[in-house]
Amino acid sequence: MSNQDWLARSRQAVWHPCTQMKRHEALPLVPIARAEGVWLTDFDGKRYLDAVSSWWVNLFGHGHPAIKAAIKDQLDSLEHVMLAGFTHRPVIELSERLGKLTGLGHAFYGSDGASATEIALKMSFHYWQNSGRPGKMRFLSLENSYHGETVGALAVTDVPLFSSTYAPLLKAGTRVPTPDARQARDGETAEDVARRAARALENVLAKQADSIAALIVEPLVQGAAGMAMYHPAYLEEARRLCDRYQVHLIADEIAVGFGRTGTLFACEQAGIRPDFLCLSKGITGGFLPLSCVLTTDGVYQAFYHDEVARGFLHSHSYTGNALACRAALAVLDLFEQEDVLARNREKAAHFSTLLAPLRAHPQVRQFRQQGMIWAFEVETTRGDFAMAFFSAMLQRGCLVRPIGNTVYFMPPYVIEAEEMALLCQATLDTLDELQHSGQWPERATPPLP
Ligand SMILES: *Cc1c(COP(=O)(O)O)cnc(C)c1O
Repeated sequence: MSNQDWLARSRQAVWHPCTQMKRHEALPLVPIARAEGVWLTDFDGKRYLDAVSSWWVNLFGHGHPAIKAAIKDQLDSLEHVMLAGFTHRPVIELSERLGKLTGLGHAFYGSDGASATEIALKMSFHYWQNSGRPGKMRFLSLENSYHGETVGALAVTDVPLFSSTYAPLLKAGTRVPTPDARQARDGETAEDVARRAARALENVLAKQADSIAALIVEPLVQGAAGMAMYHPAYLEEARRLCDRYQVHLIADEIAVGFGRTGTLFACEQAGIRPDFLCLSKGITGGFLPLSCVLTTDGVYQAFYHDEVARGFLHSHSYTGNALACRAALAVLDLFEQEDVLARNREKAAHFSTLLAPLRAHPQVRQFRQQGMIWAFEVETTRGDFAMAFFSAMLQRGCLVRPIGNTVYFMPPYVIEAEEMALLCQATLDTLDELQHSGQWPERATPPLP
């Protein structure tokens, strides 16, 4: 079967995510037959460099042998058992290891990122109910935040394209200013911006803490906002303020956890521990859906009681799936055995050097990097930039999905210098090509996270 055969069938039967399906009249889907390392291969044998780790999940390249072997081994003993009333070795070991790594010793599982957000929000709210503070029921989130797209998660997500249609369904939260370093005024450093945003947070907390359960943040990098990066001073201040005003701090490390920002967890760069830590995406190396919310003894104890309804009566059918937990254990093994963080530091420094010509390109603005994430804005008058760029990069054998005019690279950690150079050259060539070619027929470009 060739690409063409699959395209029509997919458009007929599969409703693709985050997509106006009519766009696929002009922009063909890409049917993938197999993948290995950073490379995806379609049914006609064409290869694409997966520079976004397949929506940020694929940490160690496709088909990593160690993760594959762990899942195969697990398949031979236990694929799944319900986690209410039952338990198993992979979920116990994973919870213990994540607890040691984060100092948060109680792990609750879900299957995707949005459900981790829901779990953290519900737990925080319920904690205050159980603690005799029922008035604390609102949530603060940052401007341009993204925490997932179920109804509860959308309420703390500040991306109008995703949320405004559903506004009547959402329980409005309160937004506080983002510490996004791009907002620096004349003479301000990234740290100054962070401290300015923290003062704005304090103003809200000082007046409203009695009605606020939690502040939820994406530590260091607001991904879906277009890889907005900020100084760790904001997290330090947020921790201090949340303690002072008795508000939970929820760290959504769904995108940035597992080494993406240079440390195993982004919060480490601020030396803080959140009350809730949400993990997903990279947790299984992109093999299986799994999410996890880690929390403190204090939170756990507030639910531990003779009364059933004081417990956290929340569940998902696949909670703590054994295959997914086993994949996550294999991911943690890789971090330990291969000194991934140190190797990534060397790689990142080298890649940043390779990307120098891009940084100097006349259309490129706000070039920035954090760990294994690179991003920049493209100055262009094209209304169709994201779609045209995505398409032209595909022609050159690279998968890069800009968010509005922000181009970013978030490659699997196994990417090598040669592949990074290829990505850089394709990006330079594409920028030049788009300068001199016509627009797509449709004008408005949606952000494509
Ligand atoms: C992707 C993401 C989510 C949602 O995860 P899903 O698995 O897509 O539901 C939540 N928060 C952040 C920061 C994310 O990047």
